[in-house]
Amino acid sequence: MHELGIVFYIIRDVKKVAEENLAKKVSAVVMDIGEVSTVIPDYLTDCWKWATDREDLLRGAELRCNIIPAVTWCDDCKCEYSTVQHGRTCPNCGSGNTWLLRGDQVEIKEIEAL
Ligand SMILES: [Zn+2]
Repeated sequence: MHELGIVFYIIRDVKKVAEENLAKKVSAVVMDIGEVSTVIPDYLTDCWKWATDREDLLRGAELRCNIIPAVTWCDDCKCEYSTVQHGRTCPNCGSGNTWLLRGDQVEIKEIEAL
């Protein structure tokens, strides 16, 4: 499962940060997850529970997901619009000359440690 691989990456990064800060226990991790990223937050949470149960540092830690709205930029009429609603075609001018500004990220936003 794709989400499990991502969880292992998150755990690796969180462990590194926790070690650097001499944290003994991580209580929560906050993620920014873009609306058009390939990650499904519910699956991510399930994998998180399974994987963190095997880590002393992370056992019982909560995973919180902030969903970041996807926004696309139109190069022809210089406007921003909702990617999920309109896809690659600009709703203002019909141009296909567009690119994703944000909304595909999967990033650790915050780590709460004891
Ligand atoms: Zn446009």
